[in-house]
Amino acid sequence: MDLHARYRLTKVINARGTFTPLGVSRSTPQVGEAVAAALGEFFVIDELQDRASAALARWSGAEAGTVVHCAAAAITVSVAATMTGTSAEKIAALPDATGLSSRVVIPAGHVVDYGQSILQAIRLAGAAPVVADGDIDAALAHPETASLLLVSSRLVRGPALDLAETVRAAHRRGVPVIIDAAAQDLRVRDVVATGADLVLLSGQKYLASPTAGLVVGRAALLAAVRAQEKGIGRAMKASKEAIAGVLAALEAREGMDLAAWQAVQRGKVSAFVERVSRLPGLRAAVVDDPTGLPLARAQVTVAPARARLDAAGLASRLQAGDPPIWAMAHDTARGNLVFELVPLSDAEIEMIVVRLQQAIA
Ligand SMILES: *Cc1c(COP(=O)(O)O)cnc(C)c1O
Repeated sequence: MDLHARYRLTKVINARGTFTPLGVSRSTPQVGEAVAAALGEFFVIDELQDRASAALARWSGAEAGTVVHCAAAAITVSVAATMTGTSAEKIAALPDATGLSSRVVIPAGHVVDYGQSILQAIRLAGAAPVVADGDIDAALAHPETASLLLVSSRLVRGPALDLAETVRAAHRRGVPVIIDAAAQDLRVRDVVATGADLVLLSGQKYLASPTAGLVVGRAALLAAVRAQEKGIGRAMKASKEAIAGVLAALEAREGMDLAAWQAVQRGKVSAFVERVSRLPGLRAAVVDDPTGLPLARAQVTVAPARARLDAAGLASRLQAGDPPIWAMAHDTARGNLVFELVPLSDAEIEMIVVRLQQAIA
């Protein structure tokens, strides 16, 4: 079914990566089939979640896992779990945190905005975010600290923290650690290996399941995360079709040859870079993901004098055209546009080259 034609929707070329306002990723037909099959059936949802837990544990190397609505929801229910444990009474009382340890420490550079400030995702649980600008250990020392929240993402600012070392420092204080690693599913085992108690991911990013928040980690804490469904987590639960889609996406990931996939992605990016470099006023280079994801992107640098427009101007020109092309525009101040090609077809990549050529002509 052509939804764009049926509902008069704009067909965009998304070179911006796993970007929520554009629909994040493209799922495979196999994932689509699992979702469609689930929609027509009943399940014992707890059993479906048990199967997801086993599959998530096998995939990530963690003890257990669960599926919630999205990664933002996963932050809120994970923070809640570190405040309430499995106490039904405490879970029912949230977001009223009276009498609970509710300080959630987060390093200043990890206060990210993924379309919502992560501080609000913390506050939604009734917790009080404590932004540590400098001495994290001093911030952890307070007796009412419920957890430490860290972020593994290219949105993180400032000097990189050694995550494993920071996890050990928190554990010395008896403080559990949550890592928001929303787009890091391709290196989930590395993040789990930091020793964090809970690791949170977006299923809909590179894993390309339906929208889903994946929580993996220690079994005892996972029980407290699942228990939130009878409290504030009610509005953040996963649908049956999302859980079925996650199971199908995990099966596909287990059968995936990462080295071969990486070679294909690199080939796409190199060919694109070679062609764009020949356009007057543009330079292009293959750049690796700054967070250690095993994928490369194409960075296009604009020489305004020759191209007769700057990087920001080029970004708007691409976005205003037909079809709109969305590139990553976080580095336009330094003259750069970045293109992520992972989900794009050859025809779409060809279209980007043609439109770049027209924009500077
Ligand atoms: C995408 C993202 C989120 C939000 O994920 P959703 O699944 O859309 O809620 C949170 N944190 C980071 C670092 C992200 O990249």
